[in-house]
Amino acid sequence: MRGLMMDQPLLISSILKFAARNHVEGEIVSRTVEGPIHRYRYPEWAARSARLANALLGLGVNQGDRIGTLAWNGYRHLELYYGVSGLGAVCHTINPRLFPNQISYIINHADDRWLFTDLSFVPVLEAIADQLTGVKGFVMMTDSAHMPATSLPNVICYEDLLAAESDQIEWPVFDENTASSLCYTSGTTGHPKGVLYSHRSTVLHSYGICLPDSMGLSSSECMLPVVPMFHVNAWGTAYGAPMVGSKLVLPGPRMDGESLQALIEDESVTVAAGVPTIWAALLNHLESSGKRVDSLKRTIIGGSSCPESMIRTFQDRYGVRVLHAWGMTETSPIGVVNTPKLFADTLSEEQRFALGCKQGRGLFGIEMKITDDDDRALPWDGIAMGKLKVRGPWVCSGYYQLDQSSAHQEPGWFETGDVGSIDPHGYLQITDRTKDLIKSGGEWISSIELENIAVGHPDVVEAAAIAARDDRWGERPILIVVKTEGSPLTEAALLAYYEDKVAKWQIPNAVVFCEELPHTATGKLSKLTLREKYEGILETPKG
Ligand code: ADP
Repeated sequence: MRGLMMDQPLLISSILKFAARNHVEGEIVSRTVEGPIHRYRYPEWAARSARLANALLGLGVNQGDRIGTLAWNGYRHLELYYGVSGLGAVCHTINPRLFPNQISYIINHADDRWLFTDLSFVPVLEAIADQLTGVKGFVMMTDSAHMPATSLPNVICYEDLLAAESDQIEWPVFDENTASSLCYTSGTTGHPKGVLYSHRSTVLHSYGICLPDSMGLSSSECMLPVVPMFHVNAWGTAYGAPMVGSKLVLPGPRMDGESLQALIEDESVTVAAGVPTIWAALLNHLESSGKRVDSLKRTIIGGSSCPESMIRTFQDRYGVRVLHAWGMTETSPIGVVNTPKLFADTLSEEQRFALGCKQGRGLFGIEMKITDDDDRALPWDGIAMGKLKVRGPWVCSGYYQLDQSSAHQEPGWFETGDVGSIDPHGYLQITDRTKDLIKSGGEWISSIELENIAVGHPDVVEAAAIAARDDRWGERPILIVVKTEGSPLTEAALLAYYEDKVAKWQIPNAVVFCEELPHTATGKLSKLTLREKYEGILETPKG
């Protein structure tokens, strides 16, 4: 027997319509590429998104067409999110920090029809324009006064495009499983792979991230997504915030510590989200300037492991609660968020802190399991460590235009490539990416744990632990470290710092000090580059 409930598809345009009607006072504040702060409210954003959609129809955009964006977090980018997807076309957010050959690969693989770009990325596009055979034209996300001189063909000014259109539209209604947006993983090995979200997955994920035991977004919050809108839809906040009517603050091109502190203070930001590197820069700035971020109640940190020392500094010195979170492009991205359960009140302060450092627990909508090498499920005892697999309505079932996916070998599950343990209360702790684990004499060593300890040392700015080949043990951990300017820290002193923190055999064999560590386009440590450079340093020279 079927239920007698209305069969209304879950569409992204419904978030926009709801926000325009129900959150008339909700503000969207953007730092622009052109310079000044721009502000307007949800109804105006919705009206301009409608103008954009009408303009896209005028440009001949059809349902299913891919429209690429190279843009920072800003109001025009938010209009594209809704104007494009609302029509049933696919908003393809491109990471402008990728190598030019990866960007052209992605644009051609996605077969993007039009590209919308912030002024910052015009040179990137100019350099690859002759390879972009399917692209009909380029829309500059600015007004006529700021239009650049460019060698790009078929250039249109965004504001001119909108000015010529009506702000009235009847948003089309279609199947909720229609593709809405596309985001490529950075592809540390091989080509980047496209994750194709649907309207249904996006709306369900938005509900998920707004739950109180998740990011807890609401109309009484002011949200600052520092995580870029080209990195998994700013972790879904670009949909979640309008759904509940949070004030939304978009940092544009300026994500340095000083600019972020000013934005947080000026706009009274209460909740933020971003990767650890961003927050390290903010904390450094606060330390050196003596400034504060008193309005900020909590920040969601994920994308790579958040060091314990960062969680402590935020909490103890600035009164900001850190919600550690884990996710992937393939999981929309939120998989787990660390929020305390009632039983945490009965724990000692130390135990509570240790629990808060784990990656977090599953939201309804994400089913997890950890498995051994024979694909047998392991117990949730907080000790057994295995390959993490997930499934759910916002987990990808395959990659765009790719027949084979080694991550989808077990039917109905997605293999994350991460290794971890889950405790009886459901808290996941990531040990490592499978490929970053260090195997020493048959025992695994977590590179994340070694890095977390290193950055807990006051003289260490950033650290990477990688496997180096070793004649006797197969692999041994080594550390590549950036220390604070002028610090006298030595290799011996740093290694001695590990003595009461890990078992003796887990202490790294060597420390290499350097000026800077390489990062991927999403701001993570590029271990591949480091391994290529340093994996031979423990071997005895031959001959
Ligand atoms: P990419 O780095 O490929 O662009 P993602 O942003 O999708 O793509 O990266 C997802 C990966 O980042 C996860 O598989 C995991 O290894 C790592 N990651 C994300 N959050 C955390 C976290 N809180 N702790 C440890 N690792 C994390």
